Amino acid sequence: MPSPEKPQPKTIPLVPVPAVVADAEDSTQAMVSLYAAHKKIYPRSVHGRFAYWRWVLVWLTQLVFYGLPWLEWGQRQAVLFDLGARRFYIFGLVLYPQDFIYLTAILVISAFSLFLFTAVAGRLWCGYACPQTVYSEIFLWVERSIEGDRSARIRLDAAGMSMEKLFKKWFKHIVWIGIAIWTGFTFVGYFTPIRDLGLEFFTGNMSSWEVFWVFFYALATYGNAGFMREQVCKYMCPYARFQSAMFDKDTLIVTYDEGRGEPRGARSKKADPKALGLGACVDCSLCVQVCPTGIDIRQGLQYECIGCGACADVCDTVMEKVGYPKGLIKYSTQNALAGAWSREQTWRRVLRPRVLLYTGILLLVTVALLSSLAMRQPFKVDVVRDRAALARIVAGGQIENVYRLQIMNAAEKPLHFKLAALGLPGLRIVTEADVPVPATESRWVSVRLQLPYDAAQPGAHPIHFHIQSYEPGQQVVGEIEEKSVFMVPR
Ligand code: SF4
Ligand code: SF4
Repeated sequence: MPSPEKPQPKTIPLVPVPAVVADAEDSTQAMVSLYAAHKKIYPRSVHGRFAYWRWVLVWLTQLVFYGLPWLEWGQRQAVLFDLGARRFYIFGLVLYPQDFIYLTAILVISAFSLFLFTAVAGRLWCGYACPQTVYSEIFLWVERSIEGDRSARIRLDAAGMSMEKLFKKWFKHIVWIGIAIWTGFTFVGYFTPIRDLGLEFFTGNMSSWEVFWVFFYALATYGNAGFMREQVCKYMCPYARFQSAMFDKDTLIVTYDEGRGEPRGARSKKADPKALGLGACVDCSLCVQVCPTGIDIRQGLQYECIGCGACADVCDTVMEKVGYPKGLIKYSTQNALAGAWSREQTWRRVLRPRVLLYTGILLLVTVALLSSLAMRQPFKVDVVRDRAALARIVAGGQIENVYRLQIMNAAEKPLHFKLAALGLPGLRIVTEADVPVPATESRWVSVRLQLPYDAAQPGAHPIHFHIQSYEPGQQVVGEIEEKSVFMVPR
């Protein structure tokens, strides 16, 4: 008879367990091998709501990744990170290296999103949107379409070489290499105009750097998604290592309801499991067969689990077939399983202070970023004092300081910039004070400021440049002030 007491879910440490080989002659000594031979995993295909969402994410992320560089915005590529010209084009935005603060904000948003999603539902990113998962899913789909599902692939690998095997293997690798090269090409297309790159690619005129990056990225895709697969998640990805610090007992994870499932065992569909002393698990091992990392979720939370939900999907199918309630494997929390909480109770605890804090910070940084982008001036100016001479006395008894101004036009149209220097009585610009700059270009101008000899005491005086941008014949588009210093010699 099954025990009336509900067993607690088993949790095993989030560290790999080394294989231990005992020395037969001396039982007090043991050799610990840190090397475990790789066993090829043949994940079985799976259908269900989590598989559906994973494919939705595959399509979404890949439509964006492969499609974005082909979009046009006016006369240029909509998204282009032109490293040579030090300009980043993102639809209507033209960013300069001086706009680094936006990149920082995007990194902060990404980090807090990761913290938030992990605190709520564990490795959501790993299971659904990580490029390693997405490309493994695509490569696995190709493999499955050519070689068949799990058992057919196992049989094919075990069989000796034949024309059929040779054809299937070659065909699969050719398709994989095609996808990998397309991926590498698209990646480079974010940094160099993709239409020109396409032309150069087919005429063999790519630069050596372009060739290197297209094929390096292609090789990484081919190797990681075709061969390494779960090993990247298990041994290479740093996120898998520090995720345990972000988990707690109220984090949603894919869990096996041990209290309901055990003792496991095969039985006929018509048999009453209670009469047989069995739990709900029919021990079909399908949850292990579909797992992309090859683990058995029934052994508890393991660091290899990427939270993809494939085992939950397949187990629901099995439960449906045998006529038991679904959810033997499901997204739940350790606290919810231990306390047999309802769905509402579980969700109430999921929205705990830590989650609300991450959400608050995330919203704050996002709103700050969006408002800053909306209020952003369409140009930037950097002021650099001439280092050759601090100050000099020129004809007419004037004191002169020289500056270099870099004016960056971030607008998609040519603009004029009207310069003025303020902060000291009698201070004036004696060089060009109206500077035209073409659309999305930047220009360095040398600016000389003069001050009457007795207008200020010797020393450093704070001044500022007032710069207005305008379109010829039209009103001012924007204005900014840049601080500097005017030196008066003794
Ligand atoms: S799929 Fe479900 S029923 Fe089958 S072995 Fe796994 S947990 Fe048990
Ligand atoms: S145990 Fe389940 S959720 Fe975890 S990786 Fe395997 S199939 Fe995915």
